[in-house]
Amino acid sequence: MRVPNTKVWLKTEFAQRPDLLASGTTVADKVLGRLNATWNQSKSVSSEFSGRYRELLRVADAEIGEMAARAGDIPCRLGCTYCCKDERIVLTEKEAVLVVQHIEAQLDAEQKGRVVASIRAAAPTSDQASVPCAFLIDERCAIYENRPLACRSYFSRSVASCHDFFLDKSRMPQRFSAPKMVEIAVHEVTRAAKHSKLYEINTLMQRIYADPDKPTQWAAERMSDESDLADPE
Ligand code: SF4
Repeated sequence: MRVPNTKVWLKTEFAQRPDLLASGTTVADKVLGRLNATWNQSKSVSSEFSGRYRELLRVADAEIGEMAARAGDIPCRLGCTYCCKDERIVLTEKEAVLVVQHIEAQLDAEQKGRVVASIRAAAPTSDQASVPCAFLIDERCAIYENRPLACRSYFSRSVASCHDFFLDKSRMPQRFSAPKMVEIAVHEVTRAAKHSKLYEINTLMQRIYADPDKPTQWAAERMSDESDLADPE
């Protein structure tokens, strides 16, 4: 699966609404400009990919928050977990680096034990089978600050519609999709998704945690390898 660029996505999303397409394109230009500037500036803060990527996420979160505020009352909140149980969650290997760093450096031994056990027991997430994400522990995300962009940019218009979809897959949830533009813009800026694959979260994490001694080494190798980041200048 390849992430489209922001303008291609906008054209598809608003093909029937030229008014929304025009204003969306203007917003996309501003968002892309801001994220590009952040990405370039953060090179002086951190030479490592993960530091720069965290800074980019900080700005992307602010953009997403601003769009969500403009869109009105978004019912998504901590503890509401339909999408964590009901969506196929994808991430790049670069995003997985942040997740591994979170597990290894921020969780205590007990939390880490539970997360690794959950990863090993998990089936691949699927939007058709209500399979939970491995990081959903006690109805909370165990890696919330470092969750993938796919999770950051999901907004519902109605909790009731998420509930209905959970019970009946023919009833699609009502979503607010503008923050998706930020998700795509981030991938576009880092090029992380343009040249590297997107992976289903539970399967990729099982691969990384197949040998519990290796995840730190796995992350370090990916953090220093920027070969899939086109034109970092
Ligand atoms: S990573 Fe966290 S927010 Fe994303 S689906 Fe999994 S539990 Fe939910």
